[in-house]
Amino acid sequence: MNLFDLKGKTALVTGGNGGIGLGIARGLAQAGARVAIAGRNEAKNQAALKAIGAPAIAVSGDVNDAAAVKRMVTETVQAFGGLDILVANAGINIRKPPQDYALEEWHRIMDTNLTSVFACCQAAYPEMKRRGAGKIVTIGSMTSLFGFDVGPVYAASKGAVVQLTKSLAAAWAKDNIQVNSILPGFIDTDLTRNLRRNFPEAHDRVVNRTPARRWGDPADLAGTAVFFCSRASDFVTGTALPVDGGFSSSMF
Ligand code: NDP
Repeated sequence: MNLFDLKGKTALVTGGNGGIGLGIARGLAQAGARVAIAGRNEAKNQAALKAIGAPAIAVSGDVNDAAAVKRMVTETVQAFGGLDILVANAGINIRKPPQDYALEEWHRIMDTNLTSVFACCQAAYPEMKRRGAGKIVTIGSMTSLFGFDVGPVYAASKGAVVQLTKSLAAAWAKDNIQVNSILPGFIDTDLTRNLRRNFPEAHDRVVNRTPARRWGDPADLAGTAVFFCSRASDFVTGTALPVDGGFSSSMF
C-alpha cells in the first residue's frame, strides 16, 4: 500500500473546514499527510481541526482575496516545511433561473468557483516546482458534464474548472505536477442542504436518478482524493473523474 502512503507530505485543502473539503482533508490525514485547512469561518475551522485529529492547522482567509491565498500557502509552508498537495475545493452556488441573476451574482460565483481555483494553483506552483513534484486536485461537479436550469452560472464555472484542470496539467507535467479533477455527484453537505430546503422534491429525485440509490457522503470522496494525491497516480494527469454513484453513466 506504499503507493497510497502520504506520510511526510503536506496538503492544503481550501474549504477544508466542512462538507466535501473536510471529507477529503480527513482522508488525506488518514493516509499520513499533514493537512492545512483554509476557510473563512473560524468556529468551523476549529471544529474541523478536532474532526481531523491528526497534525493539522487552519489558515483562515477568503479565497477571493489573492493576497490571502498567497498568505495561506506561505503559512502552510512555514508550518510544515513545504507544500506537496493542493485541493482547490472551496465553492458556492446561488440557485435560480438564468433570467433572475444579477451580474454581481455571476461574478461572485465565477470568482469563488473558478478564479480562486486559478489563484490557488498559481500560488502553490512555485513551491511545488521548487520541490520537483506536486499534486493538485480541483473539484468539478455533475454540472461540469450536464446543464443545470437553476444553476447556470455554477455550471459555467464547473465546466470551466475541468478545462482549466486540463490546461494546468498540460503546462505543468514537465514540472512533475499532476493536476486532476474530481466530479462529485450529489453529496450531503451544507451546500445541498440548502438545495433540499428550497426544493424539497430534490432529495427523492437524486435518489431515484442515482444508480447507487443514495446521496453521497463527504467520506465517499476521500479514496479518490488519496489516489490523486499519491504516487499511485504519478502518470495520471488532466483527468476528471466522477465520484457519483453512477449518476453520470446512466440515462435514468
Ligand atoms: P459546503 O458549503 O459544505 O462547503 C463549502 C466550503 O467552501 C466551506 O468550507 C467554505 O468555508 C468554503 N468557502 C466558500 N467560499 C469561500 C471563500 N470565499 N473563501 C474561503 N472558503 C470558502 O459545500 P460542499 O462541501 O458541498 O462543496 C465543496 C465543493 O464541492 C464546492 O466546490 C462545490 O461546488 C463542490 N461540489 C459539491 C457537491 C455537493 O453535492 N455537495 C457536488 C459537486 C461539487 P467557510 O464556511 O469558512 O466560508
